[in-house]
Amino acid sequence: MPDETAEKGSEAEAQNFTDVYSVCVECGEEFTLTSGEQNFFKQKGLRMPRRCSPCRQARRQEREHGGKGEGPKGEEDPAR
Ligand SMILES: [Zn+2]
Repeated sequence: MPDETAEKGSEAEAQNFTDVYSVCVECGEEFTLTSGEQNFFKQKGLRMPRRCSPCRQARRQEREHGGKGEGPKGEEDPAR
């Protein structure tokens, strides 16, 4: 891999991750995991995502909304 130090600026301060190309397990699209993202996940102690960001966002939103109807707790409960 070429070792480009300039350009990126903000994110890549510590380590030289290179962009990783991966295939989303959700939609099968190829997506890029940038060095900044890899750094982020590493710092958080998270595993590298296997989904593209649209799919990740969709999943996150589904969770926040209680999994639109299909989950065990699909209904809104106003009492909280
Ligand atoms: Zn996807």
